[in-house]
Amino acid sequence: MEHTQQYRPTKAIIDLQTIRDNVHNLRSYLQEGVQIIAVVKANAYGHGDVAVASAALQAGAGILAVATPDEAVRMRQHFPDVGILVLGAAPISFVRYATDHKIMLTVFSTEWVKQARSVQGLSKPLLLHIKVDSGMGRIGVTSNEQLLELYEEIQATEDFIVDGIFTHFATADEEDTTYFDKQVVLFKELVNALPIKPRLVHAANTATALVKDAALQFDAVRYGISLYGLAPSGYVADLLPFPIRQAFSLQTEIVHVKKLKAGQSVGYGATYTATADCYIGTLPIGYADGMIRKLGGQTVLVGGERCPIVGRICMDQCMILMPRAYNIGELVTLLGAQGNDFISIDEWATKCDTINYEVPCIITSRVPRTYINE
Ligand SMILES: *Cc1c(COP(=O)(O)O)cnc(C)c1O
Repeated sequence: MEHTQQYRPTKAIIDLQTIRDNVHNLRSYLQEGVQIIAVVKANAYGHGDVAVASAALQAGAGILAVATPDEAVRMRQHFPDVGILVLGAAPISFVRYATDHKIMLTVFSTEWVKQARSVQGLSKPLLLHIKVDSGMGRIGVTSNEQLLELYEEIQATEDFIVDGIFTHFATADEEDTTYFDKQVVLFKELVNALPIKPRLVHAANTATALVKDAALQFDAVRYGISLYGLAPSGYVADLLPFPIRQAFSLQTEIVHVKKLKAGQSVGYGATYTATADCYIGTLPIGYADGMIRKLGGQTVLVGGERCPIVGRICMDQCMILMPRAYNIGELVTLLGAQGNDFISIDEWATKCDTINYEVPCIITSRVPRTYINE
């Protein structure tokens, strides 16, 4: 792990024991022999890819999945022997690295296979996972004909191996299963059309693995959001077969305290004006840290009590209304537990009209990720 000095007190704290506990629970829920593919794309949903991947592997994950070739390179540098799957499209220029470093690539185009075949002097096998677009409308083959054409093209190439076949569901986190069921039917039809079953058939994201038919776990499940202790939707949250816990906390410290007189204002646009004398604390975190302006009015925890953000959030700082004059250096919890209270990522997501997935992803790299319980 990198240890670079950070002078600002603003930091994300990721509890790796919580990640391991989540993985243990998730693993115990799987059918015999089903592997866990830990989805650590986008810097492990903003949690820190290397630390999260280590914790997930320790707790029983067998394969890592990322979205991009560059993320795969980073994982390979830290984990020389683990299976790594790139879920998104990979350019032909990445094929050599993939063969040299045993990275599994997602494939969905016959043309791509032809081009990959023309890469000279590949010394080792290329492991390919065929993506089926059963209704997500993103990438993948959509029919038996496309699938078999692609399959034949791969089989016709020495050292190209159909290692897996997979799909992704668009509505697994919703109660209505009409669309989901159609995707299942199409995926099964295409898998069955293959002359030989590949090593890994996989379809389940968190929502599918936890609340749908266990048969859809196939050979492996791709657990993402649940590793981090978050539910894919309110519907899934209510049905969770075991508790999962949020691993991500966000903290800072008060850097300035002042008394505001009735009639005085704070922040750009002077949008907040004190109606009575009050105490204002300044926090060294702002929208350039991912604390977007939509979080104005959100409460933070100081001394175990909720204090609202007042005025507009600035690029690097924001102000809170406090019940008393706290000291400089007083701990402020923006996400996570303090005292008997807890601010969830879901609470921020609701405040921002978005989903919990987006919240830790948009906490920018200026906020150092620190780890407890390594
Ligand atoms: C991100 C992603 C996942 C993980 O989904 P969660 O809902 O976070 O569990 C699984 N599969 C694919 C293809 C993905 O892109």
